[in-house]
Formats: sequence, structure tokens, C-alpha cells
Amino acid sequence: MNISNYLKIKNLIPSTVNLLAVSKGFKIQEIQIINNLGQNDFGESKFQEGFQKQLILKDLEEINWHFIGRIQSNKIRKIVQNFKYIHSVDSYEKLEKISNVSLEEMKNPSIMLQVKLSKDPNKAGFDPKLLIDKWLEIKEFKNVSITGLMTINPKGLSSHENTALFKKCRSLADSLKLPDCSMGMSEDWEEAIDSGATWIRLGSIIFGNRIK
Ligand SMILES: *Cc1c(COP(=O)(O)O)cnc(C)c1O
Repeated sequence: MNISNYLKIKNLIPSTVNLLAVSKGFKIQEIQIINNLGQNDFGESKFQEGFQKQLILKDLEEINWHFIGRIQSNKIRKIVQNFKYIHSVDSYEKLEKISNVSLEEMKNPSIMLQVKLSKDPNKAGFDPKLLIDKWLEIKEFKNVSITGLMTINPKGLSSHENTALFKKCRSLADSLKLPDCSMGMSEDWEEAIDSGATWIRLGSIIFGNRIK
């Protein structure tokens, strides 16, 4: 746990940027420590792990849970039931299914659509062209509040390359009139903020090394 990094970053970021504390791989006690310092947004990338933590922390009503991991179709109902934000909707089919399930469950999650801006084979996401082509249909899905886009940059890029990709995400979001860009992690959050992020997703820089 690196409380001084947490406080330093909290102080540095502009008021337009929200800090999502990515607690995947970290313990309940660590969530409680920064929750006591006023951190209410937490991100998890595996349903089961996140749900366990939610059960234990259910009395902390001010916590907002964000799902940021790869979405398996058979987990969509559980994700919709238990997460207020979903940052990692990476295909039209999954969005459609989330919408149908949300309607049945009477939920309305805030959604950020993950976009694939580089050729990284490990990264999923909407192809920007397809997103634009299908946008009128996408906009009409019921019971999903699409507020923005999300992207994950490949590892090992220069600061300049990170900035270029983040700016692509920002301008795509702007062209669709979406306010949010969820981008920037422990290694590249500064470039993300300079490029117009509204959510940065930080794990190891505030919690330390993940225990696997
Ligand atoms: C793990 C993860 C993060 C946080 O990564 P760190 O490098 O620990 O800051 C952010 N976003 C997503 C989607 C992640 O899976």
C-alpha cells in the first residue's frame, strides 16, 4: 500500500478527472484503508473476486463498483446485477446482451465502450470505424447509459506514442459527443490526463505489487 502516492496523485489530478482505484489482486483491508481516506470508486476485473469483496464490504454503501475486465457472456447477468459501471464493453453483441439483461433486471449501468486503437493482439475492443458506422443503432440500446470510451494502451510505448493513442480516444469520444474517456494506468496516467481522460484506472502505483 502506498498511501503517499495515493494522496499525491489525488492532489495532482484536475477536478475533471476521476480516480478509479483498481483493487483487483489486492486485499479487502487495502480497500478499507483508502476508502477511509475518501476513495469511493473501485475497479475489479474478475467477477468472482469482485463479488466476494462486495459481499464483505456491503455495509460501505458509498462504494461504487466498476467492472473493468474481459466480459464473459455467461457472467453478464451477474455483472449487471452487481456493478454500477462497466468500462470494458468490447463488442456490439455484448452491448446488446447487456442492454437486454439490464432491461430484465431493471438496471441501467453506466457504460464505457472499449475501443481498440492499436494492433495489439492481446487487446479487445470496438474497431473505431465499426463504432462510428453502428453508432445510431448503438445509441438506441435501452437501459444502458453510454457515457464514454475506454482504452488500454499496449505496454512499452514511449510517452509520445501513449499520448498519440490517448488523443485518438479523446477525439473519437468527442466526435460521438461522449463526455468520458477511461484511459491511463499506473505507467501512463499522466499522458492520459494531458490527452483528456476523465477516468484514470490506477492499481499498482497506489496499492503496490499485486499478490497473485
Ligand atoms: C489491472 C488494470 C488496471 C490497473 O493496472 P495498474 O498497472 O496496476 O495500474 C487498469 N485497467 C485495467 C483494465 C486493468 O485490468
